[in-house]
Amino acid sequence: MTATEARIEVHMFPCLKDNYGFLLHDPEAGVTAAVDTPEVEPILRALDEKGWTLTHILNTHHHGDHAGGNLALKRATGCRIFGPRADAARIPGIDVEVGEGDELEFGSHRIEVYDTPGHTRGHIVYYLPDDGMAFVGDTLFAMGCGRLFEGSPGQMWASLQKILAWPDDTLIYCAHEYTQANARFALTVEPGNAALEERARRVAQLRERHVPTVPTTLAAEKATNPFLRPGSRTLREKIGLPDADDVQVFARTRELKDAF
Ligand code: ZN
Ligand code: FE
Repeated sequence: MTATEARIEVHMFPCLKDNYGFLLHDPEAGVTAAVDTPEVEPILRALDEKGWTLTHILNTHHHGDHAGGNLALKRATGCRIFGPRADAARIPGIDVEVGEGDELEFGSHRIEVYDTPGHTRGHIVYYLPDDGMAFVGDTLFAMGCGRLFEGSPGQMWASLQKILAWPDDTLIYCAHEYTQANARFALTVEPGNAALEERARRVAQLRERHVPTVPTTLAAEKATNPFLRPGSRTLREKIGLPDADDVQVFARTRELKDAF
């Protein structure tokens, strides 16, 4: 079987207040990764339900709602923990430090690692090019992006450009269900964007029934995510920066969202 035919399964489930837990499973190789460890019990329960054995933890960044379950899960399963080299000291139980340009073998699947500083200084994302999916932690959200706790707008903008270079139909698994609140903000800075208005309506319907809005796609984000749309005239005029450069527009949009 070639790599392109190999199957991969993603199991997603809610954790904490608005996080998602993700299990990534290669059935042929029998390997299973938890992408981040927001909460121990739901992850152990999901492994049990699926009959999967945890072999990997893939951390995106050090925050407690992403790495807080590392040690308990490692104790319970003996899995190996992969995390950002740039932040190794803040990743509990880290075994393998990874960063920009590294490629992991996960069964017969390739996982590429990218450094995406901004939300934290050591944030990384995991991209599976042959499977058309990525796990982006708190860098990009549906119609939003991560807060800049440890990085500059320029850094975060450069990080987002790496993600935007992937194909439009890439499935983007972000770590939080923030979509409805993000849509409310997006509508204030880019009113009249028909794709955004339509998406906001659809998201409201889904959330009324507690249906997840994750994963998203890059195509949907390019059309509706204000943080990726500094070229929009409406957005620029709305935030009072008609002639600024893209990073300035991004920075101002982020500031407005922080105060929203
Ligand atoms: Zn975070
Ligand atoms: Fe988070």
